[in-house]
Amino acid sequence: MRKKIAAGNWKMNNTKAEAEALAKAISAVEIPEDTEVILGVPFVFLSAVKEITAGSKVQVAAQNCHQEESGAYTGEISAPMLTSIDIDYVILGHSERREYFGEDNALLAAKVDAALKAGLKVIFCCGEPLNIREEETHVSYVKKQLQEGLFHLSEAALDDIIIAYEPIWAIGTGVTASKEQAQDMHKEIRDMIAANYGATAAGKMHILYGGSVKPGNATELFGQEDVDGGLVGGASLKAADFTAIIQA
Ligand code: PEP
Repeated sequence: MRKKIAAGNWKMNNTKAEAEALAKAISAVEIPEDTEVILGVPFVFLSAVKEITAGSKVQVAAQNCHQEESGAYTGEISAPMLTSIDIDYVILGHSERREYFGEDNALLAAKVDAALKAGLKVIFCCGEPLNIREEETHVSYVKKQLQEGLFHLSEAALDDIIIAYEPIWAIGTGVTASKEQAQDMHKEIRDMIAANYGATAAGKMHILYGGSVKPGNATELFGQEDVDGGLVGGASLKAADFTAIIQA
């Protein structure tokens, strides 16, 4: 039985005081039994948020890591650094990292390996831009992202992976995929896992939807059979909105 997951992605937002206040508010939320809550936090606030959330059910994610363990990579953060401060997850392959920082599937495969080796769990993002959706080639587009970024892993390694399907045309735009569009694509992704790893692995995989999730649409999106929760950007910055999404 898969649990429901509400993951927030704060991106490059919040001052220290705002980050701490938000972490405190979310730590105080009564989280349903079968639900996991993850906060995707800027590097500089990870330790503070980890401390604030200690003792609550809230897990903490970094938003990126480097593919090497250490070395002369000025300004970068490695996966072992993150586990050394007890970070639980890392978000990899977000469309903003792919677009603005040139992260391709091969690099992401190396980052996934580095994260898992260090003991992090990975939220792996995939999703197509608008022109690909309009051409109706989104299924093969996402399949290539997963095949090249993720499907080199062993079946056992998949236990530490969450997939987030985030159609780029829905991220930060206020346009949400319909519940049918979300369900169809999540089913396609689950079928891809089944084709590569078998039905058991596919049945266990948590697949989150991301793209303008709000309190008003979370219930119907999360109610779809293959939607196991959400990766939430803008609405995770407001305690009241993210609380409502957790409860949905
Ligand atoms: C995201 O960036 O992962 C995201 C889904 O953003 P938003 O919820 O703001 O669309």
